[in-house]
Amino acid sequence: MRLSQILIQTLREDPADAEIPSHRLLARAGFIVKTAAGVYTYSPLMWRVIKKFAQIVREELDREGANEVMLPIIQPKELWQASGRWDRYVADGIMFTLKDRKGSEMCLGPTHEEVMTDFVSSQVNSYKQLPVNCYQIQDKFRDEIRPRFGLMRGREFIMMDAYSFDADQAGLDEAYQKMRNAYCRIFDRCGVDYTVVQADSGAIGGAGSEEFMVIADAGEDAILFCRESGYAANVEKATSRLPDAPPGGEPKPMEKLATPDVKTVAQLEAFFPDWPAGRMAKTVLYKATWADEEKLVAVMQRGDLEINEVKLVNALDALAVDLASDEDIVKATGAEVGFAGPVDLPDDVVLLADESLRDRTNLLCGCNETGYHCLNVNLGRDARMPEFRDLRLAKAGEGCPISGKPLEEARGIEVGHIFKLGTKYSAAMGATFMAQNGKPTPFAMGCYGIGVSRTPASAVEQHHDDKGIVWPVPIAPFECVVAFLDKKRGEQIELAEKIYAQLGEAGVEVCLDDRAMSPGAKFKDHELIGLPVQVFVGRKASEGRVELLVRKGLAKVECGVDEVVGKVLAALGR
Ligand code: ATP
Ligand code: MG
Repeated sequence: MRLSQILIQTLREDPADAEIPSHRLLARAGFIVKTAAGVYTYSPLMWRVIKKFAQIVREELDREGANEVMLPIIQPKELWQASGRWDRYVADGIMFTLKDRKGSEMCLGPTHEEVMTDFVSSQVNSYKQLPVNCYQIQDKFRDEIRPRFGLMRGREFIMMDAYSFDADQAGLDEAYQKMRNAYCRIFDRCGVDYTVVQADSGAIGGAGSEEFMVIADAGEDAILFCRESGYAANVEKATSRLPDAPPGGEPKPMEKLATPDVKTVAQLEAFFPDWPAGRMAKTVLYKATWADEEKLVAVMQRGDLEINEVKLVNALDALAVDLASDEDIVKATGAEVGFAGPVDLPDDVVLLADESLRDRTNLLCGCNETGYHCLNVNLGRDARMPEFRDLRLAKAGEGCPISGKPLEEARGIEVGHIFKLGTKYSAAMGATFMAQNGKPTPFAMGCYGIGVSRTPASAVEQHHDDKGIVWPVPIAPFECVVAFLDKKRGEQIELAEKIYAQLGEAGVEVCLDDRAMSPGAKFKDHELIGLPVQVFVGRKASEGRVELLVRKGLAKVECGVDEVVGKVLAALGR
């Protein structure tokens, strides 16, 4: 391939909205061009990268017996009503919806559980046809609240989504393990440093899930992990050993004390020097939303710990939780913000407490009266007994739930997510097969996603330097470029053509930079574009000598024309 025939336009300046290296570099090197917020055009070089990554994905999934299909992007509302997800996705605002000319509602697929379940159940009647695993690589549409970071969080993006269908849980466990293995091979092959973490299942639902995280400072997810035990979890899901707190002792009579203007845990600690935060229970009011109702929920947490809102949504089986407004708090508790508590909490407010408060005695709490707090509150005696759930946000430094060693924290970019769905969708949608016992039985399903546009961007996040991108060989748009520096010198063109042909014959994915540019501009362009190995044919062409540059580390060597192929292959690790 000749670069003169490829549309390549590098920029001098970073785009104004680029906050992270991969976005900055992909835009400046001309790989992506913004069409609208969160909507990008992939230039020819980017499309080569995406196709190479997609090919790795295909090869590894095919090895596990998955079938590639192509589902429609436009999906009818009825399928989403059958699974019960239409309202949630519409309420979240994540779904692009549209109406056809007859007024029927449809959406642009944000994910394809419904369509795939409908398709497979129309094809599979008997357990004899199972297991089945189908995938596709296609654009997905999500009207993200904050599209940003270039390809990392787009509103239109490419996803590989796979769905497994088995007769029972044991079959699902096996399908899941196969996909997990395939994912490891995929991310190993494309040269990113990743970890697999326990994850929350979010709006997709199901019984368990793991995320594949590329470790990078720009990651939007926080991960807690332990080197000793191998425990790793998204902070949304993570647990830790409960940090110690001073014991409360034998129950004492409750006392109400004036605490004017003392509202926060820090202020209370200053006001009551003998009551460390670990002996307090703070109460936070949330507005929880379900499909058909909204309720105020009071959530109690030990004063030194934080609430994990993802765990809270799950505990309530709600669509969403938001901090209650000051107005709602005053209306519900009769007190100013900062004095809410379990004591005298109106009955219509749901009361939940974190497990850390179970069996705690003599707590310091709010009592829903402006300017007062209570000491020696004993739940169930002085206040309603709350429902106890794990609502705690685990933090770095706390003990690993397995080894007890301090957990460490890292930032991660979610590039893949695998779920055991069980029968959530098949049961809701009436997707059944005839089991061996002759009974119609819902499929045991798994679903599996990979960010096909996000992963290459994550690779750039991990592989770049201050000069530009440093593509990992397996997903580089070309493995090698041969560039002549002066197009007026026939011997340079001739030698470059010769080396280009030899490398092609040796099986190197090579391009020829035959563009009419100054040598300085060519060097700069290639630093930015980041092809792994670069051969420059310049003034010494007449002596049969060229310069070979390895993009990673920018190491240069001069070598004779006879050595070039061997050296390029060695640099590519072949
Ligand atoms: P996130 O938590 O980042 O919003 P998600 O959990 O909603 O992602 P999934 O539904 O699990 O995403 O989608 C599967 C994969 O698709 C993700 O692991 C991610 O790599 C990719 N992906 C999801 N949303 C986007 C997006 N807006 N832009 C680019 N890739 C995305
Ligand atoms: Mg996910």
